[in-house]
Amino acid sequence: MPRRPEERLGVGVGGGDWKRTLVHQNRCVMFLQKKSNHVHHYLVTKQILKSYSLCSLLSVSSHWRHLVGCSRASLLGFSSTRRFAQHPSLAPLLAHLYIGRRAGCAPPPALSLVRAPRTVPRLLASDWCVRRGAERAGRAGWTETRSGRTDGWEFARVRGAPLSMSRLLRAFRRTLLLQTALAGRCRWIAARGLVSSPPTKSSKGGKEIELPAPFTKKWKDNAETVIIGGGCVGVSLAYHLAKAGMKDVVLLEKSELTAGSTWHAAGLTTYFHPGINLKKIHHYSIKLYESLEEETGQAVGFHQPGSIRIATTPTRVDEFHYQMTRTRWNVTPQFMISPEKVQELFPLINIDKVLAALHNPGDGHIDPYSLTMALAAGARFYGAELYFPAAVTGLSPRSDGKWNVETENGAIRANRIVNCAGFWAREVGKMIGLDHPLVPVHHQYVITSTIPEVKALKHELPVLRDLEGSYYLRQERDGLLFGPYEEKEKMMIQESWLTNGVPPGFGKELFESDLDRIMDNVECAMDMVPVLKKADIINIISGPITYTPDILPMVGPHQGVRNYWVAIGFAYGIIHAGGIGKYLSDWIMDGEPDYDLIELDPNRFGKWTTIKYAENKARESYGFNNIVGYPKEERFEGRPTERVSGIYEALKDKASMGFHAGWEQPHWFYKTGDDPGYRPSFRRTNWFEPVGRECEQVMKKVGVFDLTPFGKFSLKGKDSTKLLDRLIANVIPKLGYINISHMITPRGRVYAEVTISHLAEEDFLLVTGSGSELHDLRYIEEEATNGGYEVDIRNVTDEIGVLGVAGPFSRKVLQKLTKVDLNGTAFKFLQCKPLTLADIPLTAMRISYTGELGWELYHKREDTAALYHCIMEAGQEFGIDNFGAYAMNSLRLEKAFRSWGAEMNCDTNAFEAGLDYFIKLNKPADFIGKQALQSIKKEGIKRKLVYLTMQTDNVDPEGNESIWYEGKVVGNTTSGAYSYNTQQSVAFAYVPVELSKIGQRLDVELLNKKSKAEIIQEPLVLTEPTRTRTKKKSELSNV
Ligand SMILES: Cc1cc2nc3c(=O)[nH]c(=O)nc-3n(C[C@H](O)[C@H](O)[C@H](O)COP(=O)(O)OP(=O)(O)OC[C@H]3O[C@@H](n4cnc5c(N)ncnc54)[C@H](O)[C@@H]3O)c2cc1C
Repeated sequence: MPRRPEERLGVGVGGGDWKRTLVHQNRCVMFLQKKSNHVHHYLVTKQILKSYSLCSLLSVSSHWRHLVGCSRASLLGFSSTRRFAQHPSLAPLLAHLYIGRRAGCAPPPALSLVRAPRTVPRLLASDWCVRRGAERAGRAGWTETRSGRTDGWEFARVRGAPLSMSRLLRAFRRTLLLQTALAGRCRWIAARGLVSSPPTKSSKGGKEIELPAPFTKKWKDNAETVIIGGGCVGVSLAYHLAKAGMKDVVLLEKSELTAGSTWHAAGLTTYFHPGINLKKIHHYSIKLYESLEEETGQAVGFHQPGSIRIATTPTRVDEFHYQMTRTRWNVTPQFMISPEKVQELFPLINIDKVLAALHNPGDGHIDPYSLTMALAAGARFYGAELYFPAAVTGLSPRSDGKWNVETENGAIRANRIVNCAGFWAREVGKMIGLDHPLVPVHHQYVITSTIPEVKALKHELPVLRDLEGSYYLRQERDGLLFGPYEEKEKMMIQESWLTNGVPPGFGKELFESDLDRIMDNVECAMDMVPVLKKADIINIISGPITYTPDILPMVGPHQGVRNYWVAIGFAYGIIHAGGIGKYLSDWIMDGEPDYDLIELDPNRFGKWTTIKYAENKARESYGFNNIVGYPKEERFEGRPTERVSGIYEALKDKASMGFHAGWEQPHWFYKTGDDPGYRPSFRRTNWFEPVGRECEQVMKKVGVFDLTPFGKFSLKGKDSTKLLDRLIANVIPKLGYINISHMITPRGRVYAEVTISHLAEEDFLLVTGSGSELHDLRYIEEEATNGGYEVDIRNVTDEIGVLGVAGPFSRKVLQKLTKVDLNGTAFKFLQCKPLTLADIPLTAMRISYTGELGWELYHKREDTAALYHCIMEAGQEFGIDNFGAYAMNSLRLEKAFRSWGAEMNCDTNAFEAGLDYFIKLNKPADFIGKQALQSIKKEGIKRKLVYLTMQTDNVDPEGNESIWYEGKVVGNTTSGAYSYNTQQSVAFAYVPVELSKIGQRLDVELLNKKSKAEIIQEPLVLTEPTRTRTKKKSELSNV
């Protein structure tokens, strides 16, 4: 049912986002924008807005000629541009001239002005006036109207005589030029489905006039994919799915496209991302945005003046070098530049403190609204249907795995749903009992008036990011736009939404702005860009931005709910939208993602991620937006969670703890004389020596490590073996044995690595890394459901504690606690057995990621402390001690053990990762990915994982560094560490097959220095079982 037409309408002059708010709040029907000597008329017709449920801003390039259709109207004029501000009556007069007069209206009867008194500081004047103007407007019966200027009038309101629809239409027709332009435009729009209902026919002097053709469509009853939310992310997904050929893509938007965070975003786009595959997302987005106008015919307002990130401290310079080596082997165009070059690119900067900068040519900013509209036009062109207003009011899962998506206009049956609901995504999640860890944060940016020095520039300024000052700054027409990230003590979270949810009526409103909060950042900016001191603030935007606990969005299928996907939690959704739309669409269409983005997996969070935790993390993350990104970074807010192991209390003061999927796990242990605590660095730091001590402990004596964070699943039931045989490329381990197995994707990539223990008939325990717990579980569950296997899958991660005991004396220590024979022949390598150690029942597995003699002891989580103390006591005579994850990493690298997530993942196929030993192409079962691996084997691989050693200087490889050969980047490391046993650095790396021979010399770039490296035969240190075997053999041959 069309709603009653709104009575108050207005005209705004100037294109600021706050005017669009009015448009979207139905308080303004049109605003005009002057842009590079062209006047763009952004026109919103009343029909479209109300009756036809569409708000489309049309850019019609004719000169100051425009009209709107509406039933009754008052005129509201306001302006923030200098020209109109100097003539406060001009805006309403113009409005009258181009609407009112033509429609036979009386001139505006009233004009209300607000002027800031001199006592109000210049910078705050605009804000003051906006508030006062809004108050007056409120008293006069208007809700809120905003504008800003400091040097003249701030706010003007004119109530004109009511306009009737017929008068307006008459005036409309008289303006021939506009009529033609508008009708043409409407037809263009109708063809793309932007207009979804008919304009009225009208007649004059008995002659009927055809207005733009109607566009009525019945809603679909069935859809392949229903996308919930029409922000830039949802629309991008619709565009990509439809373009990829999916039929029946439906997007449901509760009010209008962009009505969440999208419409008011600052629109910054950058190639830079400290992560690896997120660079691909950024790269794809920028390339798409460059071509979108040509593809869809819709201008997107994309400016690409480049960007510079400023380093003003030596640590920041280190970080840039670190970032350069991580970037060179990727697609991102990025350069490190000198202060002189910075000055050349950004002439208005004060380079006194500048030491260096990162330069990304091609960076810039885009109009988020137009971007979304262009994607929407494209989506419709390729066949997607976008419905609005169409709020999703309920979601019911069906027994066949499909969904009933309920709206006020009826239900749609969907094969899959994708939650793209921005800061409402938590409310959508709650419809199906999920509590997504999303936190609405207030983000502000301010826009200045014209600055003569900016106006005088011949080229647009690059976007500037002063990382120490924690703000971004870009040119906005002839002024500047400045966006800070306040510290955690000052930043604002919309707490009421966390407890009560987003108010149902919240639409395109903004939050109250608060300049006090950002004054520290303003001061830094004024120091860095002194012309800011002279600038007036003419506009402040403060809007909701959605934070996850680690600022990264949640993208992909959700564990535990069939066919429910999410693309939510975007703090930088404008730059992510294009790439994420493509990534997700590829995943949905092809059944697997094109590349790995485990860091965005929605399943990285779990029950432990309470909303309180998310809030604490969001506070920390917001302030840390520009913090130095160290290797092995730890963040401490919100810790510990409820997920602590039984020995956390005993160990927490003795160790530097690392955070893994909610768990606290020791990284390294302190001894007297050590410098304790977290001291991050790009070089070797306080943990370097102590980790060497721990490695020696494991190699020479015996060490204990808390492995409780492992993900653990129990698989039982009559089809367990069958399911596993389908899921893994290895054979099923014999009863009582363990093996390492890989789940391969249909394209032959390594989806997961699990340790499988065959405990009893059709009873298995699967163990995976802490970071991939729900990632792996989702995959297993999906296959079990799709294949109709009779199997009981249980996530037992929180029920089972794990202690690892490793080192030459580990057998002796454990033997003291049990009567079961632990001898090498009685308890063989890769065997698993139920045991009772010091009266504690457990399952012991003879395996250790250290590569040394060792056991992993799986027990009830409540027994961990008791078990630990018994082992430590028994081990006293053997010099037992703790060791942590850093020592484990060094030891596993010396043994050339690969790590899932580094050496292998969805970026790599099993053969290039050197997993041949674990891939059993001859096994009878048709495991997922078998065919793909067969073809890869036949065709051969192009790149290969190699094992490198290098002599380095106070800095060790971490992974993701560039590999050079004859002046060119030829590959990248995947992980690395210092080998304490052989006193050199060691790393895995991918290089082209032709450069993968043993003895090949290469360079590894570490902190701007190329270290000489050589490919060697793996491993650097033999594993204990191999050493024992070799020893036995040589003893035999000596006999
Ligand atoms: C002030 C500010 C500046 C920013 N600047 C930048 C920047 O420079 N660069 C950048 O990359 N990012 C920026 N961002 C972040 C960016 O705006 C967001 O990340 C992005 O817009 C999120 O898009 P989205 O599609 O996920 O969500 P939204 O834009 O919030 O869209 C969600 C949509 O879902 C709809 N919806 C909700 N519930 C339902 C329901 N039940 N049924 C149907 N529809 C529903 C809503 O109406 C809404 O239209 C900024 C954000 C703010 C606040």
